Amino acid sequence: MEQIEKFTIEFFENLKCNIFKDGDVLVVESVPKNFEDLYGKVAPYRLSFSGQSSGAEFVGRGSVLLAAMTKFLKGVGKTTLLKIDFDVNPIKEIKKVISFKNCEIDNIVKKHKNNFFSRFTFMTTFQYLNESEQVVNEIYIHDGKIVEGDLSGYSVVEGKGAEVSSKHMEKSYDVAREALRGMLEGRTTEIGEALGAKMEGEIGRIRGHYGNLMSELGGDLSGAIEKMREVELVLRMADGEEKKVLGARLDRLRKGLVKIGDDDSRNKILKEQEFTIKDVMHKYSLNIDNKLVNMTVIYYPVFSFNLHLKSEVGGRRSVVGGGAGRLVKMSYDPLTKTLNKLVCESCGREIVNLNLCSAGHINCERCLVRCGECGEIFCKKCLKRSCSACGKLLCKDCSIMCFGCGKYVCKDHMRKDCVSGEERCVNCLRACLRCHGSASAKYFGEALDGSKVCQKCLGAEKRGAVLDRVFGE
Ligand SMILES: [Zn+2]
Ligand SMILES: [Zn+2]
Ligand SMILES: [Zn+2]
Ligand SMILES: [Zn+2]
Ligand SMILES: [Zn+2]
Ligand SMILES: [Zn+2]
Repeated sequence: MEQIEKFTIEFFENLKCNIFKDGDVLVVESVPKNFEDLYGKVAPYRLSFSGQSSGAEFVGRGSVLLAAMTKFLKGVGKTTLLKIDFDVNPIKEIKKVISFKNCEIDNIVKKHKNNFFSRFTFMTTFQYLNESEQVVNEIYIHDGKIVEGDLSGYSVVEGKGAEVSSKHMEKSYDVAREALRGMLEGRTTEIGEALGAKMEGEIGRIRGHYGNLMSELGGDLSGAIEKMREVELVLRMADGEEKKVLGARLDRLRKGLVKIGDDDSRNKILKEQEFTIKDVMHKYSLNIDNKLVNMTVIYYPVFSFNLHLKSEVGGRRSVVGGGAGRLVKMSYDPLTKTLNKLVCESCGREIVNLNLCSAGHINCERCLVRCGECGEIFCKKCLKRSCSACGKLLCKDCSIMCFGCGKYVCKDHMRKDCVSGEERCVNCLRACLRCHGSASAKYFGEALDGSKVCQKCLGAEKRGAVLDRVFGE
């Protein structure tokens, strides 16, 4: 077999990939993500070493895969930096969730900061009897928590060291180790139980064997041995004070045995039994080795959009003052594809149809109101005044304060006091039935016929009476 082919097979075997031959082609499946990322191709791979099979990748001197394998081996145990690239069009994303009703985006500024997560690749080797079992586990951590990770479908590029801080890595590593323990627990218990059962059987056989040897030496030993065996069994589960007591008892029993055996050969048999059991215990032990083969810092940009909204030209203010404007900040996470919600500044509900009031408040459609006088759009927050006579809502420009009562009215309900010439609201005026003018109540007096009339009419009446007196008689 060619050297390169052998190297390739061993390489993927070490990564615990699925490898089989399809004619001349070597097929490799279940490749760990960190290799796929480095190589830039997702498995399965169809590899050819002769370069003659079509539909297969040639692996030989100078080939990309050979370079990737070498790079991977050099980098094992090291930290890899990966950046997920996102091509985000802010206006497109914003318009997916918000429609702009009476305003438009005048200008937008896109900024970003990086969001990090880490991926740890562990290779665990279970070693027992003559078996060696390897598993590769990949664990993704974000913000100190385990997350589901899958980079397929994203555009991943090599990251830059300058954009990454390793501050959070240590904590993430601890979380990953803890998670790994949990992931291995099932298999560890499974192997442990299988080994334990086999070991018990073998130890039983050993005891039987040495028991026979002892009884061959004569004396009533089997009873004492049985007793010792019982104590030993209990001792294995015991701890603390109980362990001490049982240990001492076992010692006594052993000494008793030696006495019964009474010679070196019994001692020798017991020593040998002890030694053999220790050996068996060692033989059935399970060794677990965890190796961190790769640590990857993955980062991606989280965007902030600063948009300047401008009301559409057409309203009175827009023509006069250049339009109401408003700066709104939004943030967008391209990984979760979520844009933060904008809420109505009047009612606090999420905005789907955005409106800008004349004062620059952002509002939902429910919270828009028009000034009853000029028809300009305002939000509920802005349009607080109303005419004290007719109740219509009034904007600042359309409300007039009456100096008589201090309340606001619309221009239709403001009149000229026919006596003083001052402007007053209709509530502050009273109609004169004689001249059909209006005047403040204080300007009314009683006419000759007993009716209440304004001072203007009273004056005219007086002048009339004087004239009557002068010319009438
Ligand atoms: Zn609202
Ligand atoms: Zn108005
Ligand atoms: Zn407003
Ligand atoms: Zn009014
Ligand atoms: Zn008034
Ligand atoms: Zn009058």
